[in-house]
Amino acid sequence: MKKEDFLQGQAELTCRFRTRFRIANAGFLCAMLIWILAVTYFPVSPFLKAKFAWPVVIALYVLVFVAWRTLRQMKRQFGLVCPSCQRPFSLKESAREKLLVSGTCGRCGGRVFDDVVSEVPQG
Ligand SMILES: [Zn+2]
Repeated sequence: MKKEDFLQGQAELTCRFRTRFRIANAGFLCAMLIWILAVTYFPVSPFLKAKFAWPVVIALYVLVFVAWRTLRQMKRQFGLVCPSCQRPFSLKESAREKLLVSGTCGRCGGRVFDDVVSEVPQG
């Protein structure tokens, strides 16, 4: 893998994931609003409220899981995985800089870039 490919892949991934995340977020907020309005304006017995609390919690877990899996899949799609251990790279700024400076995987220590890495590029 070349450093350039990594940077380009990461930029594309960030862009696409942000768009998807915004859509998902908007949908989730709408659903929450509808749920809150429904609970506020329609007389719901405490029994029903308790009955609806669990599906909401489960839905939240499912949402987080789907978002995590989507990001993982997208990382693979854009080639943002370690050539040695095949694990996707972290998107954290600190981890990214460490990878760019050292040129080695933060998890297995394997070499990531084919070209010699000596400085952190702009952007
Ligand atoms: Zn690795």
